[in-house]
Amino acid sequence: MTMVKTIEPAAEVLLKKAAQDNVETVFDRYEAQQPQCGFGSLGICCRHCIQGPCRIDPFGNGPRAGICGATAEVIVTRNLLRQVAAGTAAHVDHAYEAVEALELAAEGKIDYEIADEKKLLAIAQTLGLETDGKDKKELAMAVVEAAYQDFGNHTGKPIRWLTANVPQERLAVWESLGILPRNPDREIREALHQTTMGMDADPVNLVLATAKQGLVDGYSGLILGTDIQDILFGTPMPVVTEANLGVLQKDKVNIIVHGHVPLLSEKIVYWARELEDEAKAQGSQGIQVAGICCTGNEVLMRQGVPLATNYLAQELAIVTGAVDVMVVDVQCIMPSLARVAACYHTELITTSPIVKIPGATHVSFSLENADEAAREIVRKAIANFAKRDENKVQIPDYKAKVVAGFSVEAIVEALAKLNGEDPLKPLVDNIANGNIVGVVATVGCNNAKIT
Ligand code: SF4
Repeated sequence: MTMVKTIEPAAEVLLKKAAQDNVETVFDRYEAQQPQCGFGSLGICCRHCIQGPCRIDPFGNGPRAGICGATAEVIVTRNLLRQVAAGTAAHVDHAYEAVEALELAAEGKIDYEIADEKKLLAIAQTLGLETDGKDKKELAMAVVEAAYQDFGNHTGKPIRWLTANVPQERLAVWESLGILPRNPDREIREALHQTTMGMDADPVNLVLATAKQGLVDGYSGLILGTDIQDILFGTPMPVVTEANLGVLQKDKVNIIVHGHVPLLSEKIVYWARELEDEAKAQGSQGIQVAGICCTGNEVLMRQGVPLATNYLAQELAIVTGAVDVMVVDVQCIMPSLARVAACYHTELITTSPIVKIPGATHVSFSLENADEAAREIVRKAIANFAKRDENKVQIPDYKAKVVAGFSVEAIVEALAKLNGEDPLKPLVDNIANGNIVGVVATVGCNNAKIT
């Protein structure tokens, strides 16, 4: 059965172009993978030791346990825990890098500002740190040390970023379940140990360990990373901008920032503004930066940079033929981008030592050389503009106005207009009286399985 690939009009236009240009996309590869492995889909295949791979017969006619005796329940929950631990590692690694950046910024060793002193103070107070008489650099160092203490916590006590941020009732529930994390790196290591051959065979214990990874992900990854990045780059406030592939400009140098971390993309935005005249001198009308995935959202909500598209259409951005450089940092970067870029004039640039793609240019990015790297990348885009083949350019005429930047602080600030003393009260009251049924966070991205 052929699935509907997308209902998004810009993507529809570009999928037709991709077919004409003989470019393979994620949707083609998804179809080529059908039917996907039933054992893998059910999670009942195990490769955790070299006696395997082992698989369980879901119909009950074949093997009911792996060679070691692991049942379907054990194999499924072990696989889930490993999967969640891997995602947790990605978020925690991201947050750790942000902490390093704040440390170097506070020491004056890198060219990043501490943009949000209000948030810095609020976090220091939440953590219970001494704030009196400290200037912003000293306060930032105190926050950095608190973060590093979590990473090097050998006391057996729970992560401070968690205990400082959650209500006592929630803490008590997690404690009663034995899932309070002690140290993010230790918990991720323990999850790998726990799921190794001959280890945990209790599915309930494995599910609880997975919930513990969720707490690590939340408090040593997402919240820690957000806190530190807000201190460095500013807490987002509502901003009006545009989204969809129509934000690319026919007459401008188009640079796409793609990945997850704002450390590089903030610098690209800065240097794109600085080098606007250079771009004009080379025959363009200027420089357009647009984002994909989270790194795009970081500069969307803080700088109002338009969002080009999402994970699933990243290849299609290049298929427009109008992207002069796509620069990527970490996570959600399709390895296929290099092959797609090779069909056009687009230069794909990797920047992280742990994300290299054959066929891409690698410009090594570090906190210390951030400005040099960003300037080099913007100049590569300016130079590449001249190589654009106008016959291959097709920018779909689809874009929409978006309002982004709804940080917790922005929401509380808006609610404070209703009740300055207790801003959350109107929200809580309306949940209590049933006018608001509930509050939902929709988190994540699209994938080829679901139209
Ligand atoms: S751990 Fe057990 S189920 Fe997994 S591959 Fe080894 S023997 Fe098979």
